[in-house]
Amino acid sequence: MLRKDTLTLTLPLKGEERAAIKMPIIVSKAKCIGCGACALICPAEAIDVSDSFIAVIDTDACTGCLLCLDACSNDALEEK
Ligand code: SF4
Ligand code: SF4
Repeated sequence: MLRKDTLTLTLPLKGEERAAIKMPIIVSKAKCIGCGACALICPAEAIDVSDSFIAVIDTDACTGCLLCLDACSNDALEEK
């Protein structure tokens, strides 16, 4: 018999929930070519590639929507 107080469910986190627990997006310096595709799609304008040839994530502005992961054709972004 399952007891309610010991039952744990693991569900996918939505953007706001991810942001609340601060799971940052990590940029692979080896894979990023600075194409800017991730910056273009980011609705929070949390990615900058203007001062370097690598994406820089503003973790405070990031909402955790994960759109940038799909936008990167080089697989250079991942959740920490
Ligand atoms: S889309 Fe990928 S390769 Fe392009 S700048 Fe962003 S992280 Fe770098
Ligand atoms: S997860 Fe969303 S808000 Fe955060 S950097 Fe990527 S596209 Fe921008």
